[in-house]
Amino acid sequence: MGGCYAIIVAAGRGHRAGGGRPKQYRALAGRPLLRYSAATFAGHDMIDGVRVVIHPDDRAFFDEATDGLAVMEWAAGGPERQDSVRLGLESLQPLSPDRVLIHDAARPFVSAGLITRAIRTLNDADGALAALPVVDTLKREARGTVAGTVDRSHLWRAQTPQGFRFEQILAAHRDCAGEALTDDAAVAEKAGMEVRLVPGDEDNFKVTTAEDFARAEALLAGRMVPRVGYGYDVHRFGPGDHVWLCGVKVAHEQGLVGHSDADAGLHALTDAVLGALADGDIGTHFPPSDPQWKDTASDAFLRHAASRVAARGGRIVNLDATLICEAPRIGPHRDAMVTRVADIAGLPESRVSIKATTTERLGFTGRGEGIACQAVATLLLPMES
Ligand code: MG
Repeated sequence: MGGCYAIIVAAGRGHRAGGGRPKQYRALAGRPLLRYSAATFAGHDMIDGVRVVIHPDDRAFFDEATDGLAVMEWAAGGPERQDSVRLGLESLQPLSPDRVLIHDAARPFVSAGLITRAIRTLNDADGALAALPVVDTLKREARGTVAGTVDRSHLWRAQTPQGFRFEQILAAHRDCAGEALTDDAAVAEKAGMEVRLVPGDEDNFKVTTAEDFARAEALLAGRMVPRVGYGYDVHRFGPGDHVWLCGVKVAHEQGLVGHSDADAGLHALTDAVLGALADGDIGTHFPPSDPQWKDTASDAFLRHAASRVAARGGRIVNLDATLICEAPRIGPHRDAMVTRVADIAGLPESRVSIKATTTERLGFTGRGEGIACQAVATLLLPMES
């Protein structure tokens, strides 16, 4: 009992700006918009629980967006935002929270610092409103011409989160159910609660239009850091009539020996991606001792590594591999290999390079004992906070 809970309002259905799903579930840098704020609240040590209010039809989207996050069971929203907030508050009442923060899923960049400021403000106020001062000069218009200049000195732009004493805001929402108020601070004002301003963040903007999504993508890109990984793999020639290299079957008078399909190209690329993630190597993810990987087509390994990048909120920038052998000749298959690797890793072909070299008949590759591959991967990963 007691404690501070967060409600994230994600029940809106109106703005289907493409992609066939409500905007709070649309991908932002590969992850659903809702996931950003849900992760920030769930990871904040002053927040005891996160309740997301959704439209019940969006359950599958919610599950995808919050996979692996410590959020509570969802609550069903209502027809208007105000109904959804009230229903979210009602769903928390059995827990008797002291305080609650209410946040819109459309603001992905709420910071931990802003959450802390809002909660602390509730130590000596009924409400806390994240807001920014208006800096542009404001004009009043009449029939397309300026009718006057508005004094902006006491004007603020309201954001979320908005924080409140729990019992007070629940009672206020019950009292004005059905009235069209634009935010929870307005509900609190009507009930006579004292709502104090808390400095918001310019980055905590509301993502609504396609332009907002582009701005959000650019902001995230600025928070990404490059990472480079290196991979190396060798397989020995043995009996057979073909080899697999970079996902392409190449006829040859010998085969390559290995637990899987012995595709040294895909193995080196997989290790390069895992190396850039500092996430072990192909052997830790797919132990050779595990019979389920016997004779596996190696595209599964690279696809897995690419999914690990996506799970970290990152992306692969480019892949570059060098196959080292005297034979078979790689040149005739190079374009097919680029196409195949790009497809497996989910990249445009312009970001995949496959090269080949011999070692002038020196060493084990020169003697035709096996094939080696070296690979480099560049990723962009979110800066660790
Ligand atoms: Mg290997």
